[in-house]
Amino acid sequence: MITIQQLHTYMELVDMRMAPVIPCTLNPEHMPPVAFEKDGQPALWCLECDTKLFIGERKATLIKKIIG
Ligand SMILES: [Zn+2]
Repeated sequence: MITIQQLHTYMELVDMRMAPVIPCTLNPEHMPPVAFEKDGQPALWCLECDTKLFIGERKATLIKKIIG
């Protein structure tokens, strides 16, 4: 599990091209999803198709490894 702060840190690294984009699960060619929090759960939201992606354990582990 990660916090919204950790997800925001990761997204800043993505903006600086220091971490890979987590793409929209519906269409990887969509704009990179934005971070938001729903019911205390960090998630990503694709503004183009309104798809919401919760951060699973595998992605959380990867994100925490990258942000150190
Ligand atoms: Zn999308």
